[in-house]
Amino acid sequence: MNPGPAQRILYIPFDQLHRNYGALKDANKATDVIAMIESQAMIEGANWHPERLFFLISSARHFAKDLQTEGFTVDYRKATNTPTGLQEIQKKYIGAPIVCAEQSSFRLTEKLTALNAEFIPNDFFLTPRDLFASWAATQKSYLMENFYRKQRVRLNILMEGDQPAGGAWNFDKDNRLPPPKNYTWPAYLEHSRDEIDTEVAKELNMSPTTTWATTRKGALAQLDYFIKNHFAHFGPYEDAIALDSWSLHHSLLSPYLNNGLLHPAEVIKAAEKAFKTGRVPIGSAEAFVRQIIGWREYVNGMYWFLGPEYRNHNQLQANRKLLPLFEDPDKTQMNCIKSTVTDINERAWVHHIPRLMLLSNLALVTGTNPQEFLEWMRRVFIDATDWVMVPNIIGMGVHADGGLMMTKPYAAGGAYISRMSNYCKSCVYNPKLRTGDTACPFTTLYWDFLDRHKETFAKNHRMSQQVFGLKRLSDLPELKERAQEVLEGLEKGLI
Ligand SMILES: Cc1cc2nc3c(=O)[nH]c(=O)nc-3n(C[C@H](O)[C@H](O)[C@H](O)COP(=O)(O)OP(=O)(O)OC[C@H]3O[C@@H](n4cnc5c(N)ncnc54)[C@H](O)[C@@H]3O)c2cc1C
Ligand code: SF4
Repeated sequence: MNPGPAQRILYIPFDQLHRNYGALKDANKATDVIAMIESQAMIEGANWHPERLFFLISSARHFAKDLQTEGFTVDYRKATNTPTGLQEIQKKYIGAPIVCAEQSSFRLTEKLTALNAEFIPNDFFLTPRDLFASWAATQKSYLMENFYRKQRVRLNILMEGDQPAGGAWNFDKDNRLPPPKNYTWPAYLEHSRDEIDTEVAKELNMSPTTTWATTRKGALAQLDYFIKNHFAHFGPYEDAIALDSWSLHHSLLSPYLNNGLLHPAEVIKAAEKAFKTGRVPIGSAEAFVRQIIGWREYVNGMYWFLGPEYRNHNQLQANRKLLPLFEDPDKTQMNCIKSTVTDINERAWVHHIPRLMLLSNLALVTGTNPQEFLEWMRRVFIDATDWVMVPNIIGMGVHADGGLMMTKPYAAGGAYISRMSNYCKSCVYNPKLRTGDTACPFTTLYWDFLDRHKETFAKNHRMSQQVFGLKRLSDLPELKERAQEVLEGLEKGLI
């Protein structure tokens, strides 16, 4: 039976929840039916962090309700998987084609293509995929900095004529400060829960925190809170890790940018407006703009440019199984890792430095299998999506692509972590030591990693100095022995 005159089935995936972009941009209430699918295959397909599942499902249900209130016919249903759900809807609206914006992963693109869906361009980013590809095709190495400068000019953001505002393209030298002492961080913004949230939480048998909004209104409130309370101080501490604040001055906007509740153009507009009031120094404004129009767009561009096989790279032949400490913080005595995994368990988020310099660094120097690590990261982060995790892990985090994306691996010993955080003082290990029972595992494994891959890295001019440093280690044999002990201890959950 055909219940209505639907001419099109507009499919809205859970990461395109914006009324003004994608398939909804030119939707017609009289003739379109909106399709949204809660896929059981997705929900049950992995041991997802409950906070993540809650956020995705509750945001989608709120969004569907808003569309209904606006007068749309919305067919929101639970189905065994997305294609099955869409086919069920097609049986109701016979002859109506499925129309959707280009999907944000290779996997969903394949599934929708198999259903003969009509794709309209994905405008949830500021850079069309073909524009990025034409930039990348002209590059010898895909330096984010070069892409970012082009973006500043193309999008005319923080520009004074053809020159960068403040006279420089970046202000990193003023940023990257360690955590401040005797500093009062602003309170966290809490998001209250409503009936839909309660219903979703009950179905998932979990109790959500008040950290993440599940509505457009809540996402806009988070943006406003960031602009008013954090933006001016974003730059200086963007790389610091502090025990007395889990989010420092970070924006906490990634979940909403990634599920569509916020569009990057809205975030940039709010940032530019605040900068123009004169209350936000250029160092912070530039650092934040770089994340949104630079890193975020670059990573998405690289995902599509590098193709579906990129995720399988394992150039360093890293085959260790995922260490138990990633699943359970009680399986380690390393203060930095224990604290980071505990934070993730609590709210499915830590900022970019723990993701890169703690979690990925540990996976890198222990030789953990990149695909196992990628799957874990995808499961536990609130903002994890394929397009953003794959390049960030395979390219940036664990250098599994042999340097295709980043020219050198982000490997570091305990000295870096000690400088940028206050974890080490209360740790059983000592970041300065590389041998002995109290040596910091990061310090020991950093040198062991360089030694294991010295032939490969000696050819890389950005790594040659680090590799050369091995020659100065008089205790290398002892260090290699300790590294074995550490690796075995980590596998047993004892280090
Ligand atoms: C190993 C690794 C894994 C990551 N995985 C994810 C992920 O699954 N999802 C995700 O959204 N971000 C990911 N990031 C990027 C970054 O860590 C998060 O975007 C950020 O921590 C989110 O918090 P925030 O919104 O407070 O960010 P802020 O520090 O306030 O930055 C503002 C915004 O910039 C964007 N951004 C900054 N860096 C990146 C980047 N490297 N890639 C893409 N966007 C970026 C995000 O949209 C972020 O919301 C990853 C980074 C690394 C190093
Ligand atoms: S000493 Fe090493 S393991 Fe301990 S907190 Fe510092 S970096 Fe982490």
